[in-house]
Amino acid sequence: MFVYEYKVNPKPQQIAAINEAIRTSQFVRNKVLRYWMDNRGVGKTEMFRYNTNLRKEYKFVDDLNSHACQTAVERVLRAVNRFYDNCKKQIPGKKGYPQFKRSSRSVEYKVSGWKLSQNRKRITFTDKKGIGNLKLIGSRDLNFYQIEQIKRVRIIRRADGYYVQFSVHLDPRDTVEPIIPSQKAVGIDVGIKYFLADSQGNVEPNPQFYRRGEKQLNRLNRRKSKKFRKGTHQSRNYHRARCLYALKHLKVSRQREEFVKRVALRLIKSNDLVAYEDLNVKGMVKNKHLSKSISDAGWSTFKRWLDYFGYKYGKITIAVSPYNTSQNCSNCGEKVQKSLSTRTHICSHCNYVEDRDVNAAINILQKGLLSTVGQTESSKLGEIEPLARLEQSCLTKLCL
Ligand SMILES: [Zn+2]
Repeated sequence: MFVYEYKVNPKPQQIAAINEAIRTSQFVRNKVLRYWMDNRGVGKTEMFRYNTNLRKEYKFVDDLNSHACQTAVERVLRAVNRFYDNCKKQIPGKKGYPQFKRSSRSVEYKVSGWKLSQNRKRITFTDKKGIGNLKLIGSRDLNFYQIEQIKRVRIIRRADGYYVQFSVHLDPRDTVEPIIPSQKAVGIDVGIKYFLADSQGNVEPNPQFYRRGEKQLNRLNRRKSKKFRKGTHQSRNYHRARCLYALKHLKVSRQREEFVKRVALRLIKSNDLVAYEDLNVKGMVKNKHLSKSISDAGWSTFKRWLDYFGYKYGKITIAVSPYNTSQNCSNCGEKVQKSLSTRTHICSHCNYVEDRDVNAAINILQKGLLSTVGQTESSKLGEIEPLARLEQSCLTKLCL
């Protein structure tokens, strides 16, 4: 699944219509969720039937394309299933009980309710929400694809305007020339000091832009809070400050995404196998000392890109258990206890000296190589649900 994104410049009344469609989609989602909460045990069929009833009951729900309403129900189903899965797996801590949405930013259509123009540079939304015709601003040419390949169309509201995304059903492997195997394998370790260290001894420093951006973010946030008036209608100045803050956030998250994408692509292109730690990022962000660098650098986004590029270029990516990878000696296998502040691995058994993170990366590579015995391929792409996750991270494009 590829996601192509275009900027659009809707007119004021179109903006109102888009916002109304987004609100309706959120209304359906919350209503169905409420229905599930009140009647535990109801399944897919009942939820979809309830959605049909909502369409009969409310005119504004009926105005939204029926498939767009269905995707709202599908979102609830996904949240409910994830919650049940987490309970079943007995994941420690919060199980992610589905929440009501207060500020949805997108509405998702399937294969109906929209129409592309002859040259495919414009899109018209044909349901009764009255969004109308929008010019698609972007370099990607939709003429390369069959209309049937476009499975989803969504409109997204961001701090800097509106976007239309097309989800094109296409195997990324079909679009690349195979690259010559490099006959190299690499293990990578997320550092505290670095973004990552690899088993070949290279380190990728942490991107500076976040720290830099953070100062500006804090300042803008303070300015916003100062203008906040409790209980009353917010002033124009408040909303201006809020928008500036949101814009900065968007910029920082885009920079971060570009950074991890670049690093992931480089690793995949120059190696045939990449082994990485299967970190529980949720658990780690709780650790005060680690949290900064890991959530900053977007480790989980990085892993997703790594798996994606691995799949695309036919390379192997393996997640290994991080257990003892930083403690054990990669030369002789003995355990060498060290605290977080110890930066260098010095083995008392074989006198091997190496940077702490590089030593860990070598261990990760060895674990990864061991686990590939009898296994030739890792196609994790099936686990990637681009659309579901796109909403959470401000992905600009899921394609190269
Ligand atoms: Zn040793």
